[in-house]
Amino acid sequence: MVSSEYERRIAARFATFDQDGNGYIDREDFGTAAKALLAEFAVAARSDKGQALYAGAEAFWQGMAGIADRDGDQRITREEFVTGAVKRLRDNPERFAEIARPFLHAAIAVADTDGDGAATVADTARVLRVLGVDQAVAEAAAAGLDGDGDGRVGEAEIVPAFARYFTVPE
Ligand code: CA
Ligand code: CA
Repeated sequence: MVSSEYERRIAARFATFDQDGNGYIDREDFGTAAKALLAEFAVAARSDKGQALYAGAEAFWQGMAGIADRDGDQRITREEFVTGAVKRLRDNPERFAEIARPFLHAAIAVADTDGDGAATVADTARVLRVLGVDQAVAEAAAAGLDGDGDGRVGEAEIVPAFARYFTVPE
């Protein structure tokens, strides 16, 4: 039996990926997310950080398409997301961490305004909010990501947390 809570979570995760809300996930959604993050932190697209973020977004899209785009039309429908991505990633969260890592690494670099290799909890919440997460949820999630409580969120904390969020068990 599939619970309504599970359905709700899947819908929320699909909506996070479907950045432009047109009902399917495609390359443009990842480009839209990268562009929004760069605008939020006033980082130029042509800078090293900007280029790394776009490259990470493309790699993330390619990885997701490889897992979920069953018919190869360069779009991940909700059905493909549920039957392909969610089930396969749940069985293999390390794979998800692997395909998301370059994007998350680059996103932290964009949000790392003082260049110490990690983003503050507040700036991590800004990242999540830009990606479409509600303000209160974003703030709680960012605080939760700071596993060692030093007020900063690094790649070692965000990658596994992100993988957990998207590969939540039924
Ligand atoms: Ca879309
Ligand atoms: Ca497809």
